[in-house]
Amino acid sequence: MKKFSIDKALSYLKKITKTLKEPIVSEVAKNKDAYQILISTIISLRTKDETTRKAWKRLKKVADTPEKMLKLTQQEIERLIYPAGFYRNKARNILKLSQILLERFNGIVPQDMETLLSLPGVGRKTANLVLTEAFNIDAICVDTHVHRISNRWGYVKTRNPIETEMALRKKLPIKHWKEYNYLLVKFGQNICSPIHPKCDMCLLKNMCKYYKTTKA
Ligand code: SF4
Repeated sequence: MKKFSIDKALSYLKKITKTLKEPIVSEVAKNKDAYQILISTIISLRTKDETTRKAWKRLKKVADTPEKMLKLTQQEIERLIYPAGFYRNKARNILKLSQILLERFNGIVPQDMETLLSLPGVGRKTANLVLTEAFNIDAICVDTHVHRISNRWGYVKTRNPIETEMALRKKLPIKHWKEYNYLLVKFGQNICSPIHPKCDMCLLKNMCKYYKTTKA
Protein backbone atom coordinates (compact mmCIF):
# COMPACT_ATOMS: atom_id res chain seq x y z
CA MET A 1 0.00 0.00 0.00
CA LYS A 2 1.28 3.46 -0.92
CA LYS A 3 1.61 6.21 1.70
CA PHE A 4 -1.56 8.33 1.82
CA SER A 5 -1.15 11.77 0.26
CA ILE A 6 -3.85 14.36 0.88
CA ASP A 7 -2.72 16.42 -2.13
CA LYS A 8 -3.04 13.42 -4.45
CA ALA A 9 -6.38 12.39 -2.96
CA LEU A 10 -7.90 15.86 -3.35
CA SER A 11 -6.52 16.32 -6.84
CA TYR A 12 -8.18 13.00 -7.81
CA LEU A 13 -11.46 14.11 -6.20
CA LYS A 14 -11.35 17.39 -8.13
CA LYS A 15 -11.14 15.47 -11.40
CA ILE A 16 -13.77 12.85 -10.78
CA THR A 17 -16.34 15.05 -9.04
CA LYS A 18 -16.54 17.55 -11.92
CA THR A 19 -19.30 15.60 -13.62
CA LEU A 20 -21.19 14.62 -10.45
CA LYS A 21 -24.36 16.32 -9.24
CA GLU A 22 -23.87 19.31 -6.92
CA PRO A 23 -24.96 18.93 -3.28
CA ILE A 24 -27.98 21.22 -2.73
CA VAL A 25 -26.19 23.48 -0.25
CA SER A 26 -23.40 24.09 -2.81
CA GLU A 27 -26.07 25.02 -5.36
CA VAL A 28 -27.60 27.49 -2.91
CA ALA A 29 -24.12 28.82 -2.02
CA LYS A 30 -23.51 30.04 -5.56
CA ASN A 31 -25.43 33.27 -4.96
CA LYS A 32 -23.50 33.92 -1.69
CA ASP A 33 -26.66 34.83 0.25
CA ALA A 34 -25.71 34.00 3.85
CA TYR A 35 -29.31 33.74 5.07
CA GLN A 36 -30.28 31.29 2.32
CA ILE A 37 -27.13 29.22 2.93
CA LEU A 38 -27.92 29.15 6.64
CA ILE A 39 -31.56 28.08 6.21
CA SER A 40 -30.87 25.47 3.51
CA THR A 41 -28.09 23.98 5.66
CA ILE A 42 -30.44 23.72 8.64
CA ILE A 43 -33.01 21.91 6.46
CA SER A 44 -30.28 19.57 5.15
CA LEU A 45 -29.31 18.24 8.59
CA ARG A 46 -30.09 14.51 8.84
CA THR A 47 -31.98 14.74 5.56
CA LYS A 48 -31.28 13.30 2.13
CA ASP A 49 -30.10 15.78 -0.49
CA GLU A 50 -33.08 15.25 -2.78
CA THR A 51 -35.54 15.86 0.06
CA THR A 52 -33.63 19.00 1.08
CA ARG A 53 -33.60 20.26 -2.52
CA LYS A 54 -37.40 20.03 -2.83
CA ALA A 55 -38.06 21.36 0.67
CA TRP A 56 -35.75 24.33 0.18
CA LYS A 57 -37.30 25.20 -3.21
CA ARG A 58 -40.80 25.23 -1.68
CA LEU A 59 -39.71 27.41 1.24
CA LYS A 60 -37.59 29.75 -0.88
CA LYS A 61 -40.52 30.54 -3.16
CA VAL A 62 -42.37 32.15 -0.26
CA ALA A 63 -39.61 33.16 2.15
CA ASP A 64 -35.99 33.82 1.19
CA THR A 65 -35.31 36.62 3.72
CA PRO A 66 -35.81 36.88 7.50
CA GLU A 67 -38.58 39.48 6.95
CA LYS A 68 -40.57 37.17 4.69
CA MET A 69 -39.96 34.20 6.98
CA LEU A 70 -41.56 36.03 9.91
CA LYS A 71 -44.75 36.41 7.90
CA LEU A 72 -45.17 32.61 8.05
CA THR A 73 -46.40 30.58 11.00
CA GLN A 74 -44.40 27.67 12.37
CA GLN A 75 -47.02 25.28 10.94
CA GLU A 76 -46.69 26.82 7.48
CA ILE A 77 -42.91 26.37 7.56
CA GLU A 78 -43.38 22.79 8.77
CA ARG A 79 -45.66 22.05 5.82
CA LEU A 80 -43.22 23.60 3.35
CA ILE A 81 -40.13 21.70 4.54
CA TYR A 82 -41.83 18.36 5.29
CA PRO A 83 -40.57 15.56 5.05
CA ALA A 84 -37.13 16.89 6.06
CA GLY A 85 -35.89 15.14 9.21
CA PHE A 86 -36.99 16.82 12.47
CA TYR A 87 -39.06 19.26 10.40
CA ARG A 88 -40.98 20.53 13.44
CA ASN A 89 -37.81 21.47 15.36
CA LYS A 90 -36.28 22.94 12.23
CA ALA A 91 -39.36 25.07 11.51
CA ARG A 92 -39.35 26.39 15.10
CA ASN A 93 -35.61 27.17 14.92
CA ILE A 94 -35.89 28.84 11.50
CA LEU A 95 -38.60 31.12 12.83
CA LYS A 96 -36.76 31.99 16.08
CA LEU A 97 -33.48 32.48 14.30
CA SER A 98 -35.05 34.83 11.74
CA GLN A 99 -36.56 36.87 14.56
CA ILE A 100 -33.19 37.10 16.38
CA LEU A 101 -31.43 38.12 13.16
CA LEU A 102 -33.89 40.97 12.67
CA GLU A 103 -33.98 42.09 16.30
CA ARG A 104 -30.27 41.86 17.12
CA PHE A 105 -28.35 41.86 13.86
CA ASN A 106 -30.35 44.09 11.53
CA GLY A 107 -31.35 41.03 9.49
CA ILE A 108 -27.71 40.22 8.69
CA VAL A 109 -26.13 36.82 9.36
CA PRO A 110 -23.12 37.23 11.70
CA GLN A 111 -19.67 36.33 10.40
CA ASP A 112 -18.13 34.74 13.47
CA MET A 113 -18.35 31.23 14.83
CA GLU A 114 -19.31 32.14 18.40
CA THR A 115 -22.28 34.31 17.41
CA LEU A 116 -23.45 31.81 14.81
CA LEU A 117 -23.38 29.05 17.44
CA SER A 118 -25.62 31.15 19.71
CA LEU A 119 -28.44 31.01 17.12
CA PRO A 120 -31.12 28.33 17.57
CA GLY A 121 -30.49 25.14 15.57
CA VAL A 122 -26.98 26.18 14.53
CA GLY A 123 -24.19 23.72 15.36
CA ARG A 124 -20.55 23.63 14.26
CA LYS A 125 -21.31 21.97 10.94
CA THR A 126 -23.79 24.66 9.93
CA ALA A 127 -21.64 27.52 11.28
CA ASN A 128 -18.52 26.29 9.46
CA LEU A 129 -20.43 25.93 6.20
CA VAL A 130 -21.84 29.46 6.46
CA LEU A 131 -18.36 30.86 7.20
CA THR A 132 -16.78 29.18 4.17
CA GLU A 133 -19.59 29.41 1.64
CA ALA A 134 -21.07 32.80 2.48
CA PHE A 135 -18.07 34.72 3.78
CA ASN A 136 -15.09 32.94 2.19
CA ILE A 137 -13.52 32.43 5.64
CA ASP A 138 -11.15 29.48 6.15
CA ALA A 139 -13.07 26.85 8.14
CA ILE A 140 -13.66 23.11 7.89
CA CYS A 141 -17.22 21.87 7.79
CA VAL A 142 -17.31 18.29 9.02
CA ASP A 143 -20.44 16.33 8.21
CA THR A 144 -20.99 12.60 8.09
CA HIS A 145 -19.22 12.24 4.70
CA VAL A 146 -16.15 14.20 5.77
CA HIS A 147 -15.93 12.29 9.04
CA ARG A 148 -16.34 8.86 7.41
CA ILE A 149 -14.02 9.35 4.44
CA SER A 150 -11.21 11.07 6.37
CA ASN A 151 -11.21 8.04 8.69
CA ARG A 152 -11.46 5.51 5.85
CA TRP A 153 -8.40 7.03 4.25
CA GLY A 154 -6.60 6.76 7.60
CA TYR A 155 -5.91 10.51 7.40
CA VAL A 156 -7.43 10.94 10.87
CA LYS A 157 -8.40 8.46 13.55
CA THR A 158 -11.40 9.94 15.33
CA ARG A 159 -14.70 8.88 16.90
CA ASN A 160 -17.01 11.74 15.96
CA PRO A 161 -17.27 14.82 13.70
CA ILE A 162 -16.04 17.25 16.38
CA GLU A 163 -12.85 15.21 16.90
CA THR A 164 -12.47 15.04 13.13
CA GLU A 165 -12.76 18.81 12.78
CA MET A 166 -10.13 19.36 15.48
CA ALA A 167 -7.78 16.75 13.96
CA LEU A 168 -8.20 18.25 10.48
CA ARG A 169 -7.54 21.74 11.80
CA LYS A 170 -4.14 20.46 12.98
CA LYS A 171 -3.07 18.53 9.91
CA LEU A 172 -5.00 19.57 6.80
CA PRO A 173 -3.08 22.33 4.94
CA ILE A 174 -5.16 25.52 5.15
CA LYS A 175 -5.24 25.83 1.33
CA HIS A 176 -7.60 22.81 1.32
CA TRP A 177 -9.98 23.86 4.11
CA LYS A 178 -12.68 25.55 2.05
CA GLU A 179 -12.86 22.91 -0.68
CA TYR A 180 -12.58 19.88 1.61
CA ASN A 181 -16.26 19.59 2.51
CA TYR A 182 -17.49 20.21 -1.03
CA LEU A 183 -15.21 17.55 -2.54
CA LEU A 184 -15.77 14.90 0.11
CA VAL A 185 -19.56 15.36 0.16
CA LYS A 186 -19.77 14.83 -3.60
CA PHE A 187 -17.39 11.87 -3.40
CA GLY A 188 -19.31 10.42 -0.43
CA GLN A 189 -22.71 10.80 -2.06
CA ASN A 190 -21.62 9.10 -5.26
CA ILE A 191 -18.61 6.81 -4.72
CA CYS A 192 -17.35 6.41 -1.16
CA SER A 193 -20.85 5.85 0.17
CA PRO A 194 -21.58 4.80 3.77
CA ILE A 195 -22.60 1.28 2.73
CA HIS A 196 -20.99 -0.55 -0.21
CA PRO A 197 -18.46 2.07 -1.33
CA LYS A 198 -17.52 1.65 -5.01
CA CYS A 199 -13.91 0.78 -4.25
CA ASP A 200 -13.39 -1.16 -7.49
CA MET A 201 -13.70 2.01 -9.54
CA CYS A 202 -11.82 4.23 -7.05
CA LEU A 203 -8.24 5.15 -7.91
CA LEU A 204 -7.46 5.87 -4.26
CA LYS A 205 -7.59 2.23 -3.25
CA ASN A 206 -3.80 1.79 -3.37
CA MET A 207 -3.43 4.29 -0.53
CA CYS A 208 -6.74 3.82 1.32
CA LYS A 209 -6.61 2.19 4.74
CA TYR A 210 -10.23 1.00 4.56
CA TYR A 211 -9.60 -0.78 1.26
CA LYS A 212 -6.46 -2.38 2.59
CA THR A 213 -8.09 -3.66 5.77
CA THR A 214 -11.42 -4.79 4.33
CA LYS A 215 -10.97 -5.67 0.66
CA ALA A 216 -7.38 -6.13 -0.42
S1 SF4 B 1 -11.03 2.77 -1.92
FE1 SF4 B 1 -13.17 2.60 -1.26
S2 SF4 B 1 -13.19 3.28 0.88
FE2 SF4 B 1 -11.26 3.96 -0.04
S3 SF4 B 1 -11.67 6.04 -0.74
FE3 SF4 B 1 -12.05 4.69 -2.48
S4 SF4 B 1 -14.24 4.23 -2.36
FE4 SF4 B 1 -13.66 5.06 -0.37
